[in-house]
Amino acid sequence: MLELRGIHTFYGAAHILHDVSLEVRPGEVVALLGRNGAGKTTTMKSVMGLAEARRGEILYEGRPIRGLAAFAIARLGIGYVPEERRIFKQLTVMENLEVGRREPLEGARVWELDELFTLFPNLAERRENLGGHLSGGEQQMLTIARTLMGAPKTVLLDEPSEGVAPVIVEQMAHTIEALKAQGLAVLLSEQNVRFAERVSDRACIIESGRIQFDGAMAELAARPEVREQYLAL
Ligand code: ATP
Repeated sequence: MLELRGIHTFYGAAHILHDVSLEVRPGEVVALLGRNGAGKTTTMKSVMGLAEARRGEILYEGRPIRGLAAFAIARLGIGYVPEERRIFKQLTVMENLEVGRREPLEGARVWELDELFTLFPNLAERRENLGGHLSGGEQQMLTIARTLMGAPKTVLLDEPSEGVAPVIVEQMAHTIEALKAQGLAVLLSEQNVRFAERVSDRACIIESGRIQFDGAMAELAARPEVREQYLAL
């Protein structure tokens, strides 16, 4: 459903991604693993049209999307949850969620508020609180929940577990499992290998902008030398 083929991405003259290829199918969670600065965020931004992929192809549902405007890519049903939390601090949790509501595309899974509150009980308790009064982890949940209000078919999650309390990491794991069960495609960028191992079917390891491993999670688990070489464990 989402496929990158030989992507080369640049920030100005800086050549950051080199021949990156990867694929995420419906009902599948693919972990994009790598150290700080390896190119995980740049890969996601390349998909979203927020970083310049100058060469290669990006296909979404079989259609080339490289070079489209970011808003047009989002409208195809790709939800992006960036590393930095994007919530409206002056709006309540409920209002933040309402802002995320979009007309669903055909075949998209629509998430009801009650379901989101079941996935994220903290948000249910704080539904009338202002976004700015939430903890960092709760803001991260709210960003994910708001993205789901847009009924995406594919979700890109950039380091959702970073700097977040264990209880919230737990809720994120359940949420990712729910997305997979509902047939969404999930690309998950992570430095937390244990979290990624728990929720992902496959792993791609990126190092210095190059994919160094692409395979089943079980295969990675059986290759300690690969984990040691490319991941901070
Ligand atoms: P992190 O965990 O820190 O987010 P990452 O794997 O997501 O790491 P990227 O943010 O994709 O890494 O960064 C990849 C490389 O691109 C790094 O060397 C970084 O310094 C460089 N880079 C990122 N943003 C820019 C920019 N706007 N201009 C120039 N170089 C950049």
